[in-house]
Amino acid sequence: MRELVADKRTEGFNEVVSGYLEQEALSEAGRCIQCKNPTCILGCPVKIDIKKFILQITKKDYPGAYSTIRQTNNFPSICGRVCPAEYQCRRSCVLNKGKLAYCSPEAVNIHFLERFIGDYGMQNNLEVPMQPDGRFSEVKMAVVGSGPAGLCCAGELARKGVKVTVFEGLQSCGGVLRYGIPGFRLPREVLDYEINCLTKLGVKFITNTIAGKVVLLEELFQQGFNRIFLGLGAGVPSFLGIKGENLCNVYSANEFLTRVNLMSAYKFPEYHTPVNIGKHVLVIGGGNTAMDAARCALRLQKMSSIEPHVTVVYRRTLTEMPARRLEIQHAQEEGIKFKFLTQPKEFDSDDQGFVRQLNCLICELQDADESGRRKPVVLQGSDFSIPCDLAIIAVGLGANQVLTGATPGLKTDKYKDIIINSATMETSIKHVFAGGDIAGGEGTVIEALGMAKKAAISILQNS
Ligand code: FAD
Ligand code: SF4
Repeated sequence: MRELVADKRTEGFNEVVSGYLEQEALSEAGRCIQCKNPTCILGCPVKIDIKKFILQITKKDYPGAYSTIRQTNNFPSICGRVCPAEYQCRRSCVLNKGKLAYCSPEAVNIHFLERFIGDYGMQNNLEVPMQPDGRFSEVKMAVVGSGPAGLCCAGELARKGVKVTVFEGLQSCGGVLRYGIPGFRLPREVLDYEINCLTKLGVKFITNTIAGKVVLLEELFQQGFNRIFLGLGAGVPSFLGIKGENLCNVYSANEFLTRVNLMSAYKFPEYHTPVNIGKHVLVIGGGNTAMDAARCALRLQKMSSIEPHVTVVYRRTLTEMPARRLEIQHAQEEGIKFKFLTQPKEFDSDDQGFVRQLNCLICELQDADESGRRKPVVLQGSDFSIPCDLAIIAVGLGANQVLTGATPGLKTDKYKDIIINSATMETSIKHVFAGGDIAGGEGTVIEALGMAKKAAISILQNS
């Protein structure tokens, strides 16, 4: 895949990966051997008919390929860019020669082909036609949260003629797709296009409205909504619980990325959102959030003429990092350093209360446990420190309890995720459904879409 060279891409927030030209897509699609038993489909959380859409590409039937993908995935241009395909469909491709948790380069680039078709759909305004069904004219739907789950549920129902209103706590819609994943991975135009399509279907968006604070669930019912879908995501950052984590210039990745992406700090001086940049940035964690935070921090340094110096601190090794492999590769190419087998112990401050260094311990990995993961154990006495004037903590996210805490009868599990009936996606409150990260813990975009679509089908079946 063509992409911007590392030096150019870190000058700003332009998209890194270019996308296939037609000839490239045809050549990649031609590598698919059209297996009798297409195991790739089993690897996709929403079971896209991958074999069929790739065959349609080889025949240049792009509208057909678009329609095949759209049967199970509402946002191919988005998933084609952010799906961790190397752990999913591509890992199950028979051309995959890898023995690791992720696929080898030989596997067909299914996600890039999906992106090619999604972008073809956008460029040619292909849409799944509305199929209004009179049976649903009495359904008045409130969707809370405008991340991928909320947007998908809204679109599925609006296409059947249901009146849908989306309530979003933030000032813009998109959830993590807007405030978390940076524009160099997912250009804002792609997300705006999808939201615009929903507006054209009649979906109404009400932003700056936190359900559970500004409006309670029971008030939504009183306002005449008779079905509710909760797509609240997992927006509360976890912390390390170590000394010095509340020092100045120690951010959660959530706050850092929100300031940069949602509040446009990266467009300084056009936007005045304050975000500190730092000369020695440490990012703690090994997932997509850590990679996004590190790559944003490095770009901000370069854009501010600061010598780039960003290090990712992770307590396991490269092999165990859960981030998409492409993101790790891009981070390395861009000059981000990695400090593996390193457990943070405490932050030290200067006399003004600003973070000055991270004290750490070296780890060793035990053999894999029953979950298949190798547990890090610290080597006592292996203390060392790393200088740092900005630290970003990216060690996981959990459920936001603003709405669940304000809604008696809405049952949650020990992680404060909403408990759903997995067959109907209904919660413990009748006519209230849920999907995405709030109903399954931190997951992926395509998993959120799959759950939301299932909820929409269930809402229609029970209306
Ligand atoms: P979210 O996207 O979290 O959306 C929830 C929305 O609900 C938010 O807009 C929030 O403001 C709103 N909300 C919450 N509570 C309320 C309330 N009470 N009232 C009103 N609105 C409310 N997945 C991938 O597949 N690939 C990736 O590359 C990838 N990268 C990621 C990078 C980052 C930085 C992060 C944080 C996550 C990443 N993920 C990735 C995970 C993926 O983004 C999530 O699994 C997905 O966004 C979940 O979708 P959702 O709709 O459930 O929740
Ligand atoms: Fe693969 Fe994701 Fe597309 Fe499914 S949605 S085919 S897992 S890239």
